Amino acid sequence: MNFAGMATKENISVQKIWSILSAVCDPEVPVLSVIDLGIIRDIKLIRTNDEEGIEVVITPTYSGCPAMDVIRMNIRMELLQHGYKNVQISTVLSPAWTTDWMTEAGKQKLKAYGIAPPNPSQQVCNTQLFAEDEAVQCPHCNSYNTRRISEFGSTACKSLFQCNDCQEPFDYFKCH
Ligand SMILES: [Zn+2]
Repeated sequence: MNFAGMATKENISVQKIWSILSAVCDPEVPVLSVIDLGIIRDIKLIRTNDEEGIEVVITPTYSGCPAMDVIRMNIRMELLQHGYKNVQISTVLSPAWTTDWMTEAGKQKLKAYGIAPPNPSQQVCNTQLFAEDEAVQCPHCNSYNTRRISEFGSTACKSLFQCNDCQEPFDYFKCH
């Protein structure tokens, strides 16, 4: 067996893990997979005690987000269902997750689900801007004429907004 052949075999397996993980969803926003969220940083093939295994490296969206424990468990369960028993999930906190890591497909799914997708972080990560000038688009009628009602929406990861045009309240996925 030559080295190039081994590398190819490894790539195929890692690709397969990525596609399996696309079925693992965010418990708070079930339309988003962990791939859409951009929290899977790396997938490595590992070997512990002569047993082949997988290491999944994740970066939590919010360090205090209780959903992360559920996500870890769901990743483990999904891989187990596909016959992967030796799974290590490690957490990397730096660099910190930002909403920029969310895929475009993920942002579209959020909007279709009725949650305003995050603005690019450079527009909103400044707390001053967030408080005064942030224009969040209503996911129902696309109006920018919206106002923030509460810092916290249905979960700590979202704020509650209301549209001044269609009057619909909606969650906004907060910038990190
Ligand atoms: Zn509206």
